[in-house]
Amino acid sequence: MARRRMVYEGKAKILYEGPEPGTYIQYFKDDATAFNAEKRDVIEGKGVLNNRISEHIMSALNGIGVPTHFIRRLNMREQLIRQVEIIPLEVVVRNVAAGSISKRLGIEEGEPLPRPIIEFYYKDDALGDPMVSEEHIVAFNWANQQDIDDIIALALRVNDFLTGLFLGVGIKLVDFKIETGRIWDGDFQRIIVADEISPDSCRLWDIETGRKLDKDVFRRDLGSLTDAYSEVAKRLGILPQNATKPRSGPKLVH
Ligand code: UDP
Repeated sequence: MARRRMVYEGKAKILYEGPEPGTYIQYFKDDATAFNAEKRDVIEGKGVLNNRISEHIMSALNGIGVPTHFIRRLNMREQLIRQVEIIPLEVVVRNVAAGSISKRLGIEEGEPLPRPIIEFYYKDDALGDPMVSEEHIVAFNWANQQDIDDIIALALRVNDFLTGLFLGVGIKLVDFKIETGRIWDGDFQRIIVADEISPDSCRLWDIETGRKLDKDVFRRDLGSLTDAYSEVAKRLGILPQNATKPRSGPKLVH
């Protein structure tokens, strides 16, 4: 097979040219980064788990009419996606205080918020993804007011759906981040969910015990990240309940 053309390499994923026009292949790496890539490691099996979990969530969203870039999974680490024009914003939705909002506003982690709160961050690694307001977004032409209204509506639908999905398997959705992109239908533009939705981009707490099942396990050195992500996958019915860790290769039997 001819080598594929790489379109973009990010911290946790690589994009390749897809088999048909208007598509990309999204490859999930095992690399984990936090604190704007100051902390980094390779965690065997993470890419496989995130590919499966993101597939599960994105297909379910497509199924209820929330448009996403996901087309189908190709193999353990790759999925076929629609090409979109990425809007350079990280859209965070919060239900419960944790992470940066707790630090910035002095709200104890775990405190339920009075309503879902949406925040925007400008995607720029060199600047450390600064928080921006709708004023900045419109003034600098990253999106217009109609786009922002569409993004908020999309983010809230994703929040409602994900909150219920995780609640059903004993997990509290504390917060999450999505990215969005534009697609064109002739002259009409639509904004759809892009990137990934996985424990790398959500805060997920076990309802009974409060155990963290997301990237905070890596950020805060709380144990095995693959154990946490496998637990999420098992509860969602993606991995069998008695699944063991992925094996790295054949073992010599004496
Ligand atoms: N998040 C993300 N990518 C980022 C920043 C945040 O996926 O570059 C997610 C993060 O996992 C959490 C939510 O967005 O689920 C809110 O993150 P927060 O602002 O609290 O930042 P953090 O504590 O990660 O610095």
